[in-house]
Amino acid sequence: MARRHHAPWVAGPEDLRLAEVFGPHTAWLPLPDGSVAHVRHERLARTPRSPVLDLVQGVTRRWPDRAHALLRGRIRTTALAPFDADVVKVLARRVTLLAPGAGGSPEGVDLASDAAAARALARLEPVAGEPMEALRALTAGVVGGAPGMDRPVGAVLVGPDGRPLAGARNRAGEHPSLHAEVALLQAWGAPVPAGCTLLVSLQCCRMCAALLLDAAPDLDVAYLQPDPGKFARGTALAGRERRIR
Ligand SMILES: [Zn+2]
Repeated sequence: MARRHHAPWVAGPEDLRLAEVFGPHTAWLPLPDGSVAHVRHERLARTPRSPVLDLVQGVTRRWPDRAHALLRGRIRTTALAPFDADVVKVLARRVTLLAPGAGGSPEGVDLASDAAAARALARLEPVAGEPMEALRALTAGVVGGAPGMDRPVGAVLVGPDGRPLAGARNRAGEHPSLHAEVALLQAWGAPVPAGCTLLVSLQCCRMCAALLLDAAPDLDVAYLQPDPGKFARGTALAGRERRIR
């Protein structure tokens, strides 16, 4: 069977006009009513935020029932973080980088507060004892499987001295972006100290792997369960993470 050939997507006059109106550090998504949702964020290196991630988190927070359909549209952005392509692969569909214009009067729906509300759902859990004990305690009693329920996945950040510093649980039932690793990085809110290890109960998906590699390039990542899913293949951590038994 012949492959279907798609003509490469080309930015239209409206895209170029919006790149001018929004200026740098902004991601946006056309909405079915002809309006546009946008968010601006001037990113600091090695932080788990970007205009594209803010946009995806904001869309899903503001329109939880429509987010899946909306995020099938092409995201436009004037800034691309190292992990954005993987965020888009897991939570959206396509993204295109456009050259920013000077910026003017942004129009449409500003999602800054919705993105902040999504990030606020990320929280750290108390951790104590040995790292493995702390990891097990995070997922004990969490029942997964039913629609809307969180899968029992936890992440524990272990300091260079071998003591757990912080832990987070998968919160994808509350917000689809909040895998345990994303929840941990966004709730931690500071650079990850050098020499740390991250213990996770499930192998990182490509979004989390790319975010972790950007946040802490020397982080030692160890997981308990391999993830056979398509989003865990060929991640940014491939060959760097290790399995613990
Ligand atoms: Zn993940």
